Amino acid sequence: MYYVAHVDKNICSQTSCHLCTTFCPETNCINYSEQDKSAYISVDRCKSCEICVYICREVAKNNAIQMKWINDLEDGFMIKKSGLVLR
Ligand code: SF4
Ligand code: SF4
Repeated sequence: MYYVAHVDKNICSQTSCHLCTTFCPETNCINYSEQDKSAYISVDRCKSCEICVYICREVAKNNAIQMKWINDLEDGFMIKKSGLVLR
């Protein structure tokens, strides 16, 4: 197991700048929820590079993203499903 990025929705939703979704090098890894007004991580795609942590803290000045041990994610984690689903 490993560390993954985790967005604090309460902090992110106060600005919702979308910057991290632009800078994450992994496709479809950070997405944006219009319902929550917050970015969120598809943790199965996160490569733990911490670029989003830097962007949110130093550029967005919001500090809404922390690296967390994957087993310690409080609300579980979201798996992005892609490709064919066989029935
Ligand atoms: S950079 Fe930070 S504040 Fe901006 S959308 Fe991402 S998590 Fe939210
Ligand atoms: S740690 Fe890297 S790969 Fe993971 S969400 Fe942040 S920018 Fe994307």
